[in-house]
Amino acid sequence: MQRSFWAPGRVNLIGDHTDYAGGVVLPIAVEFGIRVDIEPSERIALTSDGRAVDVAPDGTGTPDRWGRYPAAVAAELAELGRPAIGIRGVVESNLPIGTGLSSSAALEVAVALALCAVADFAVARMELALACRRAELRAVGVPCGIMDQAASLLGREGSALLLDCRSLEYRYVPLPDELAIVVVDSGERQLEHTGYADRQRELAAGMPARVRHVETENQRVRDTVKALEGGEIGELGRLFRSSHESLRDDYEVSTPELDRLVEHAYDAGALAARLTGGGFGGSIVVLAAQSRAGTIADQLGGRVVRASAGARELTPRRMGSLPGRA
Ligand code: ADP
Ligand code: MG
Repeated sequence: MQRSFWAPGRVNLIGDHTDYAGGVVLPIAVEFGIRVDIEPSERIALTSDGRAVDVAPDGTGTPDRWGRYPAAVAAELAELGRPAIGIRGVVESNLPIGTGLSSSAALEVAVALALCAVADFAVARMELALACRRAELRAVGVPCGIMDQAASLLGREGSALLLDCRSLEYRYVPLPDELAIVVVDSGERQLEHTGYADRQRELAAGMPARVRHVETENQRVRDTVKALEGGEIGELGRLFRSSHESLRDDYEVSTPELDRLVEHAYDAGALAARLTGGGFGGSIVVLAAQSRAGTIADQLGGRVVRASAGARELTPRRMGSLPGRA
């Protein structure tokens, strides 16, 4: 029997470069993501856009490029005791790759759900997020935090996820109806995995500006939650501006193009705008009044996204189309 599993990408509203520092983050899952359609098999044999990966059910083999992600997920799940049952099928995506919406985490999570389901192997969602995070490190050596995988697995429609990356406690923060979220891709690919690792080292070494960013950013996340829950929408602009400046000046992960886009967003009437994700390219996130969001998205060449439900098995009724497809 064929089964389908869906994992969304994510946009972080605020709290960047805080996850691996044990801080707080506030992402949403979006309606764009990755679907895998599979059936049980002897091996893990998947194709994406005609490119195949074929490894053993415990992830051993010699995958190249994108195949390293499913192989690493399988290896991590094998270490947790998942029975060695494979999957064969196809990967489909409507999530842009390498723009900061975390297509890598969505791929890991979709494959992880499929591998667990065929083997009747139950893993708690946060445990699965941790396994996928380890898989990302194993696959491509990126020492990422837990945010992307947790957001994909724990997203909720209409809410942001407030996650404490040290205790792994979380709760949902409902988003006001009048608020729309727009994401704009800078067009600059986030190839700076080395820069990302450098920042972690600099933070661990206690570089004052890096530490200051993380401390002030954690406070901004808490203040943003207060503003959202208290209906003080006017506060969000100040907090997002300050977050962007901190990432630009103290953490030094912005680019001239991201800076320009953020200014452009305010000029176009945004309530709040900042770079989102790891920086070094990627996307900005914009908050706007519902009535203005479409125009702002058009002007900036971005797209309106909605806070959406997290990863899950799709019911047969929905198997014909990707949830995020217009
Ligand atoms: P991001 O996660 O921000 O989109 P990354 O560089 O972390 O960017 O991850 C992108 C990588 O994830 C791609 O190079 C590819 O290896 C893998 N990937 C993402 N989406 C797909 C897909 N639909 N099919 C195959 N591989 C994918
Ligand atoms: Mg990624």
